[in-house]
Amino acid sequence: MIGIAVLGSTGSIGVSTLDVVQRHPERFRVVALTAHRSVERMEEQCRRVRPELAVMVDEDAAAALRERLADMPGAPEVLAGAEALETVASLPQVDYVMAAVVGAAGMMSSLAAARAGKRLLLANKEALVVAGALLMDAARENGATLLPIDSEHNAIFQCLPPEHRRGLDGFGVERILLTASGGPFRNADPRDLAGVTPEQACAHPNWSMGRKISVDSASMMNKGLELIEACWLFATSPERIQVVVHPQSVIHSMVQYSDGSVLAQLGNPDMRTPIAHALAWPERIAAGVEPLDLFDVARLDFEPPAPERFPCLRLAYRAAAEMGTAPVVLNAANEVAVAAFLARRIRFTDIGAVVERTMDRLPAEPVDLSGLAHVLEVDRQARDIAEQSLAREVA
Ligand code: NAD
Ligand code: MG
Repeated sequence: MIGIAVLGSTGSIGVSTLDVVQRHPERFRVVALTAHRSVERMEEQCRRVRPELAVMVDEDAAAALRERLADMPGAPEVLAGAEALETVASLPQVDYVMAAVVGAAGMMSSLAAARAGKRLLLANKEALVVAGALLMDAARENGATLLPIDSEHNAIFQCLPPEHRRGLDGFGVERILLTASGGPFRNADPRDLAGVTPEQACAHPNWSMGRKISVDSASMMNKGLELIEACWLFATSPERIQVVVHPQSVIHSMVQYSDGSVLAQLGNPDMRTPIAHALAWPERIAAGVEPLDLFDVARLDFEPPAPERFPCLRLAYRAAAEMGTAPVVLNAANEVAVAAFLARRIRFTDIGAVVERTMDRLPAEPVDLSGLAHVLEVDRQARDIAEQSLAREVA
């Protein structure tokens, strides 16, 4: 039996993970579940999945969960606080860690899983964006297996030769074609974007996801974060990655080879496919996903992206070219700006402006040898500057 910890179990990826895992009770055992503060959903998951441990990062939520589970025979032990995420990610009875916390808040627990040599199923792309070098090194040094859950990166992984983990060179790989749906505003008049609401931004045409990544998809910051994510995962540079807008989201990404071949991975837009792939790899297991009906799809369209229309994509290209601390600043400012947009404090079009001003105020520098401490310090500074910059938009 494979023991699994699902970090961020109450979110969109967490729920899909439990759906796949529960289809294979002979194979997987859920050891731990974690959430920020959604007590109700966590209580329901604990009763259904019966983990050994449940973590609520929020202390009050942890107390509330203990109370709610008091009548449950064999109730899980409830831990509180952010450090408990690292504890469960390193437990000896945990073989696989699903890292599905949203934002840089998932960085420490993703690192802990890599350091403990686990199979790390990485949905938390922000961890790679802010600490790519540290995370990749930790995985290599401790024999962790890092498998991408982000659908594009999982597709690329599936289309690359097995030796690809040493980098793209030497296997006839020319470049990666990273597909993007273009989000809900692909065809919107840029002049209308200032007035869009969080509900409109979160109404993705193809995927149902958490609110933060939905806004990132609408601004195309998501594709920008994925560009940086791909650079780390596949040891390559942004010049070897082309973003291709493909509105149907049926092809999840492609790899182009020197002999003219292009390999693509296709499927319905359902995150249970990459989740099942990473859970079973190198085998295959059922995911509960509808088989792809190509006659139903009928056509596949492709367009070049428009970074000038989507300033967040342009800023992510800039961060990917500068590297060092630039992705840390990009990500931190974006997290602050997206939260402010979701709270209706700023307009959709202010997101890019806040990120750009923060990047200008904190120019890229190399990540120093202290590594993690430096990253955390730059992340904190960028959040402070982005917060000050919000005030300008609100005024
Ligand atoms: P979500 O908002 O639906 O869920 C987030 C989960 O993390 C919840 O369980 C929440 O309780 C927990 N969480 C939130 N803040 C936290 C904090 N500060 N500390 C600890 N836990 C916290 O998000 P999601 O859509 O499931 O996305 C999760 C991650 O997966 C993100 O990094 C996202 O970019 C990535 N991802 C998601 C999808 C998707 O289809 N949803 C696809 C690709 C990648
Ligand atoms: Mg993706």
